[in-house]
Amino acid sequence: MAEATPISMARGDGIGPEIMDVTLEILEAAGADLDIEEIEIGEKVYKAGHTAGITEQAWDSLRRTKVFLKAPITTPRGGGYKSLNVTVRKTLGLFANVRPCVSYYPFIETHHPHMDVVIIRENEEDLYAGIEHRQTRQVTQCLKLITRPGSEKIIRYAFAYARRNNRKRITAMVKDNIMKITDGMFVRLFHEIAEEYPDIEADTMIVDIGAARLADTPDRFDVIVTPNLYGDILSDIAAQVSGSIGLGPSANIGEKVSMFEAIHGSAPDIAGQNIANPSGLILAAVMMLRHIGQGDVAERIHNAWLVTIEEGIHKHDIYREGVSRERVGTKQFGRAVIGHLGKTPKILPGRDYSKSAGSAFKMPERTRREPEQKDLVGVDVFIDDPDTTPDELAGRLLQHVQSETLRLKMITNRGVKVWPEGMPETFSTDHWRCRFQQPEGRTVTHKDILEILSNCEEAGIDFIKTEGLYTFNGEPGYSLGQGQ
Ligand code: NAD
Repeated sequence: MAEATPISMARGDGIGPEIMDVTLEILEAAGADLDIEEIEIGEKVYKAGHTAGITEQAWDSLRRTKVFLKAPITTPRGGGYKSLNVTVRKTLGLFANVRPCVSYYPFIETHHPHMDVVIIRENEEDLYAGIEHRQTRQVTQCLKLITRPGSEKIIRYAFAYARRNNRKRITAMVKDNIMKITDGMFVRLFHEIAEEYPDIEADTMIVDIGAARLADTPDRFDVIVTPNLYGDILSDIAAQVSGSIGLGPSANIGEKVSMFEAIHGSAPDIAGQNIANPSGLILAAVMMLRHIGQGDVAERIHNAWLVTIEEGIHKHDIYREGVSRERVGTKQFGRAVIGHLGKTPKILPGRDYSKSAGSAFKMPERTRREPEQKDLVGVDVFIDDPDTTPDELAGRLLQHVQSETLRLKMITNRGVKVWPEGMPETFSTDHWRCRFQQPEGRTVTHKDILEILSNCEEAGIDFIKTEGLYTFNGEPGYSLGQGQ
């Protein structure tokens, strides 16, 4: 017989212990083959002086088992405490956030009876890298970092997830009509990788119209893969319109470690009263079982849970006169699920996880590419000047700053070209991007850039940052100007 799969498990705070107890009872009754190590996280650990709410022993356990079933915790307010979820996600490289958003009509009220969407959100980069600067008195900046390995990991994960979970279509949501380099790379990789999965339909959608369609007709989507910020917004829209946000599970997947939990928090207002709904954590445990290759057990639990919902055995938060039959407590709900093990739902679609039975999920490998030829062909110098006009600034740069190799090509303000041939109506701030390029497109050196900066210094021009202009195999790696 195969060895039991080791997992780390934390009971958490508030309603955490009661919903975890119910979940563990169901796992045991369904025959999940787990070797469970309990770890301490949360309020008690924070208050014992661990600023991220997690101990060294807990880290060791996570590194050893690589699978974490987590109940919600309470983050104490103030006092320099760090979010445990953010710390775990960043430290362990949990790059994918996976959120199934499903409606359970007619048992749970929703406008979208057939919705069954999985949002796969990149979790580590994009605007959430947290690199922000105030550069001038008027202008602040946040760096949007989209990397090739980061995008490739999430896209490959989405396709592998779809194949393993009988999903037929993946939609990438981006804004590559505006962000042609960052989101453009994400989309290019999406199309490249889609070719390796001819059995899965792949399409792309601009995120604004995509979000509108997700809110209006979510049943037309299957799997959505998207960078971090869009994913944050889309997953909340999807969970909300499904009508079952309180029942939602989520997984945070890494190359080495993965974490499974309910979407909701520790609900201290109802803790210890046997009224919390354990469904989010039960369904998170189902995701975990599929991930570790116990799809048969996952299927049994998920179908038993669906039967329980169909039978109208409901917790107080989803109880409705005329639809629900019995209002039950946390423990009684768990026992009802156990009583339904082996049954399949009659109205709600039953689950088939046979593809994830017998083998743990294997992270798809990233491809190695031939390194591209990278050439420096110019520089954008950003200048802080609250009292200038485009023509006056251009005059100074032409006279005192540009060199033989690097000539002033244009000035933009908030991305709008103001020189040459700017419009007098354009509003300007104190933040000017001044582009210097080699006129014949030849490569330049860092020394050429230092000369430009040194000229700025001598002319009393306050440069606040530079961005190198590079080509990659001859293709410009920078936006070409206004509206591009
Ligand atoms: P919450 O999700 O805990 O509660 C919001 C509301 O939903 C409350 O009225 C609560 O009673 C209800 N609710 C939540 N889960 C429920 C369940 N399973 N059954 C029935 N009702 C439920 O959000 P909050 O009140 O903003 O946060 C409370 C604490 O949880 C905070 O300390 C917060 O930091 C923490 N939190 C933790 C996580 C996590 O560990 N992943 C996530 C979110 C919030």
